Amino acid sequence: MALIKPKNPKIKGLNEVGRYAIGVQWTDGHDSIYPLENLRRYCPCNVCHGAVQGEIPSQSQRLAQLSRLGEQAVFVGWSDGHETIYTMSQLRAICRCAYCVAEPERPITGG
Ligand SMILES: [Zn+2]
Ligand SMILES: [Zn+2]
Repeated sequence: MALIKPKNPKIKGLNEVGRYAIGVQWTDGHDSIYPLENLRRYCPCNVCHGAVQGEIPSQSQRLAQLSRLGEQAVFVGWSDGHETIYTMSQLRAICRCAYCVAEPERPITGG
């Protein structure tokens, strides 16, 4: 089965799901739920490099602010003062739903 990853995924809807996750609805019909812990772990900023190791303090996985930056990105402000901007492609790439994890992934290198 050929699975097509959209080149330029766009967000239709963005919402908080309870206190521990956010939901994203994509224009291609895909729905993603991102636990905040995962989002923080994959923070692509220059400090975190998309791979935060070890335990993430609860303060660091709590949402202080969530907003869309136009069509291109999502801004997340964390309770510990950290700020993250995810491009739509980055967000889509870290979706861990059954559909997305079934795709042959690029080998994950340690670290
Ligand atoms: Zn970061
Ligand atoms: Zn998915």
